[in-house]
Amino acid sequence: MLDIETLGLEPGASVVSIGAVRFDESGVGDTFERSISLTSCQRAGLTIDAETLEWWLAQDGEALDQLSGGDPLARVLEAFSEWYGDADQIWANSPSFDCELLETAYHAVDRDEPWMFYEERDFRTISSLPVAADVEFEGVEHDALDDAVHQAEVVSKTLAGIEEIRARGESA
Ligand SMILES: [Mg+2]
Repeated sequence: MLDIETLGLEPGASVVSIGAVRFDESGVGDTFERSISLTSCQRAGLTIDAETLEWWLAQDGEALDQLSGGDPLARVLEAFSEWYGDADQIWANSPSFDCELLETAYHAVDRDEPWMFYEERDFRTISSLPVAADVEFEGVEHDALDDAVHQAEVVSKTLAGIEEIRARGESA
């Protein structure tokens, strides 16, 4: 499960943090969390949207912290690729946002994203199903890792619930 925090809503926007966590139907596992230097984003040609910046400034301190500091974009993306490894699915809310904006950031530093388009899965779709699990949010909203972990828990529990329904059907 991937969640990014950005300074814009369109591909080409600066990415200020990446949060990700591995999960399956039995729960969540290994995490990835890195903050990215805004200056390095701008040097790579990524943009800063004033309206999004204003939105960030209205958020609470812990979320806002993601905007300062951080490591160079290219280095963080290399680390993410390494962490992604041979994963065969990438989930996001939705891939048309997180995956597309991150892909554009990879291209801005002449690198390719580590996933294929057909590995993308949509959290927004599964979380809108009537069988979607209800999970209480823990941590800081708009913190990339806390968002990713929350979304992963929802999908994990939903998949486990579907598996239970399927097993019940087979034993009936
Ligand atoms: Mg988020």
